[in-house]
Amino acid sequence: MRALVYRGPGSKSWDDVPDPQLVDATDAIVRVDATTICGTDLHILKGDVPAVEPGRILGHEAVGTVESVGAAVAGIRPGDRVLVSCISSCGRCRFCREGQYGQCIGGGGWILGHLIDGTQAQYVRVPFADNSTHLLPATVSDEQAITLCDILPTAYEIGVINGAVRPADVVAVVGAGPIGLAAVITARLFSPRSIIAIDVADRRLELAKQFGAQETLNPRRDDVAERVRVLTDGLGADVVIEAVGVPETFEMCTSLVRPGGHVANVGVHGKPATLHLEDLWIKEITITTGLVHTVTTPTLLSMVASGVLDAARFVTHHFPLHEIEDAYDVFARANETDALKVFLSR
Ligand SMILES: [Zn+2]
Ligand SMILES: [Zn+2]
Repeated sequence: MRALVYRGPGSKSWDDVPDPQLVDATDAIVRVDATTICGTDLHILKGDVPAVEPGRILGHEAVGTVESVGAAVAGIRPGDRVLVSCISSCGRCRFCREGQYGQCIGGGGWILGHLIDGTQAQYVRVPFADNSTHLLPATVSDEQAITLCDILPTAYEIGVINGAVRPADVVAVVGAGPIGLAAVITARLFSPRSIIAIDVADRRLELAKQFGAQETLNPRRDDVAERVRVLTDGLGADVVIEAVGVPETFEMCTSLVRPGGHVANVGVHGKPATLHLEDLWIKEITITTGLVHTVTTPTLLSMVASGVLDAARFVTHHFPLHEIEDAYDVFARANETDALKVFLSR
């Protein structure tokens, strides 16, 4: 088969590789009907994720058709159309038993395109297939489903739920890329009083408005701290969601939150950020971090299927899978191309 192979920092290739085989009885082999590229893949290509070794097939999001299953797989059969979750779950370890699949220590967690070969390929081996795939109803398109593999559960669980968004809150979302926009639409489920989107790119702020943000601020032009104070009666935002992953934006989040409020970090950080405890200690701030568990995927899937969430709007570009290197180029230049999710199909 063909697959997108990581060749070390700054290098990747679309190559002929051996077809994946069933290894464990709990495995499935899934034919990839659609996949996409995540900001995390760009981090890997920069060399920010050293656990990814050269030779690894990238990608942790896919929609596909089950090709074969191991003897212990009971919930899916060849021919079934499934969503492949970015997080695999052994189902047995202490963390999986508590629903914290992202922290699985039984061989799951974020492994696809990280510790084992991933989904940017014609076929993928999915470990713990019963726990790591979701059957898709025919009413949910591949474009909708691809947003449920990672961005919607990540923004919802690590941003909105960890941030404890409540009705009438003012929610500030720092970063209006795919994850930030997914946080905007899932925060709206809780009827916030207002959502403030903050980004240095005006075109992304425009998108944030279309996705449901009431206010937009550009730190290159606006005094963000002052504007947030004005918009919150001098208090600060109830919840601030970090969706960038650089020290400056994390520090901005802790400066915008009100006393007693929540800062929910979603961004993938490659460097230390300063925690200003000298200002924060007295303010009763809750700061959360995390890797998605994907426990909300069934709920989000039903919201997408019923039209409560408009997931397909995240897909901005379509490519055939064999043009994935062009898709990487478009996705990496999102500031110029306005790419949110690039959709790659067989
Ligand atoms: Zn991802
Ligand atoms: Zn586990």
